[in-house]
Amino acid sequence: MPARCNPRPPTRVGAEEQPPTHPVPTGDPEDAPPPAAHSDPAGSAPVPAADDAALAGGSTGPDHLRPLLDVSLRALADGAAHRNGPIPAGDPSELADGVRAATGDLLPDTGTGATAALEQLTRILASGSADPGDPSCAAHLHCPPLAVAVAAETAAAALNPSLDSWDQAPAATTMETQLLGVLAGLVGYHPASASGVLTSGGTESNLMGMLLARDAALRNAPGAVEPARDGITAAPRLRVLCSQEAHFSVQRNAAFLGLGESAVIPVPVDQHHRMDPAALEQALTRCRGIPAAVIATAGTTDAGAIDPLARIAKVARRHRAWLHVDAAYGGGALFSQRLASLLDGLAASDSVALDLHKLGWQPVASGVFLTRQAQSLDPLARRVAYLNPADDEEAGYPSLLGNSMRTTRRADVFKIAVTMRALGRDGMGRLTDTCHDLARHAARRITADPALQLAADPVLTTVVFRYTDTRDPDRVNAALRRRLLRAGSAVVGRTELDGAVWLKLTLLNPQARQNDVDALLAAVVAAGAEEDQ
Ligand SMILES: *Cc1c(COP(=O)(O)O)cnc(C)c1O
Repeated sequence: MPARCNPRPPTRVGAEEQPPTHPVPTGDPEDAPPPAAHSDPAGSAPVPAADDAALAGGSTGPDHLRPLLDVSLRALADGAAHRNGPIPAGDPSELADGVRAATGDLLPDTGTGATAALEQLTRILASGSADPGDPSCAAHLHCPPLAVAVAAETAAAALNPSLDSWDQAPAATTMETQLLGVLAGLVGYHPASASGVLTSGGTESNLMGMLLARDAALRNAPGAVEPARDGITAAPRLRVLCSQEAHFSVQRNAAFLGLGESAVIPVPVDQHHRMDPAALEQALTRCRGIPAAVIATAGTTDAGAIDPLARIAKVARRHRAWLHVDAAYGGGALFSQRLASLLDGLAASDSVALDLHKLGWQPVASGVFLTRQAQSLDPLARRVAYLNPADDEEAGYPSLLGNSMRTTRRADVFKIAVTMRALGRDGMGRLTDTCHDLARHAARRITADPALQLAADPVLTTVVFRYTDTRDPDRVNAALRRRLLRAGSAVVGRTELDGAVWLKLTLLNPQARQNDVDALLAAVVAAGAEEDQ
């Protein structure tokens, strides 16, 4: 079950703009519920103030952590109760002033003590958050994290393993390797020869795929440049091909990698926003320079479109280009019996990006990078005397240092491992299917409403639509979204199709119900009518 850090009854989405009752996320004790911070939630002994300094400086023994976790949970609920919807009502500058005023000095000469600071700032954070557990918070690939994952994250934070050396993370090193094996199997790689690493997200996973593609292309090119050693100034011109609808990180990563954004060749899409394999073939044939990588997308951020992976894989192989699949969003379909076949062909890729902080219900960050051949990661390998000396490795101490671009690295594996073991593939798949059902329901309601227009049937869990009962749809759709934000009543996405403004629901909350979606759409229509006046 997804965590609702907010135990309020379901929010009513009303389009009327109410004056915000609490424009300022409050840390003000005057405004706050009874000062719960200094009493035990079970109603037993209050925490004596004298202990507070010890708590502030204390480490993660249960004596220190338990009372603070109690404070934190209570303040999360208190803070959320100050919001009337998924996001605080008000204008951004007013809200920012409120946060600054309520937090006060973030490095006072003398500290306030652990309980007071934690309670005050948690309340401000909760009242001032966009709550993905609220069914009206549906703009982005921003999921409500599962309670079990949040609890696991807390355990990992308490132990603070770091995966850059075995002696900082013995069990977590094993678990990460195990989890990557399971995920490699899920995408269709051979777990024994595949490898990978947990990342900060799709952006970093795409960067890794492009880095490995770049280095593989240059090593095989005439002159055999070794980019890690020599740089790429003397290298032949490399090209990266992806669909017009690929994630913007492809361009930015090309800049980071010294290829330049102009190295990216956008390939046309069909009417369903999927890369056209014939157009890819043509672009590869015409391409000047070496086609280092083809990047297919499994789940575009707006339409959820899934490129035809099997056909693209054949074309890429014919042109000896590395195939990276950006499945940051669509990878979640692999858990679902109903949707998994949409990703047929994924196994033929050289690398893949998955994001379990989207369809995976994990706290950020939960990115995954996988590569079919472990040796592809060689360009990242380094020998560091204090982390992975050769004699340690010979003595059987494994090192994941060379799998990552990072050094110190969180055990993001832990929450994912706990969640997947808790839910199993069936449970994960059911959550995906529930979100997919909500998207199909939303599409039916939009089609039935004369004031709304549906852009296309949903593939995954996003629904692109707009309000049409107006002569000026671009202005009204843009303005109605801000009206809902200002009222704090709904967080709806916005995008553009062929230069026109459209709205988007990204439905990642498996606890939301069909009537929540109905209420959200009704709020959009009401806000549209008000903006049109
Ligand atoms: C979210 C997303 C990304 C970026 O992932 P981050 O985790 O935000 O870095 C890349 N590609 C696609 C298709 C995405 O949906």
